[in-house]
Amino acid sequence: MKCPFCGFEDTKVIDSRPSEEKKRRRRECTNCGKRFTTYEIIEKPLLVVLKRDGSFEPFDRSKLISGILTAIKKRPVSLESVSRLVDNIENNYANQLKNQATTQEIGDMVLSELKKLDLVAYVRFASVYKDFSDVESFINIISELEK
Ligand SMILES: [Zn+2]
Repeated sequence: MKCPFCGFEDTKVIDSRPSEEKKRRRRECTNCGKRFTTYEIIEKPLLVVLKRDGSFEPFDRSKLISGILTAIKKRPVSLESVSRLVDNIENNYANQLKNQATTQEIGDMVLSELKKLDLVAYVRFASVYKDFSDVESFINIISELEK
């Protein structure tokens, strides 16, 4: 990163602060000593989700979070851990350079994380996600919990 004052090539990062979409960096020129701030936009890779009816839609972070929030209502699960859970899912795809997911994959990942966090939240999320019109799958989940 070039110094905007003297044009010197070598500047060092003296402070780095990530925020939602951009990373703020405080830099210092190693030549003239002047300080300046840069912003780096953190670009999230495109992730599309294949739905059960065969249609695609862009991955919607807030929609997933609101689904999880319903499941953790009045449960001792922090917002921070929900946000981390969703981050992990997004990062999982980004790290594998995958830009396509299925609702089933995402649902399964949420379930396996919720299972570690809170069993009540886990069953609630499963009941919505797995759509317990199917009694057998509900029994499977309950018997899985008893193990
Ligand atoms: Zn400089």
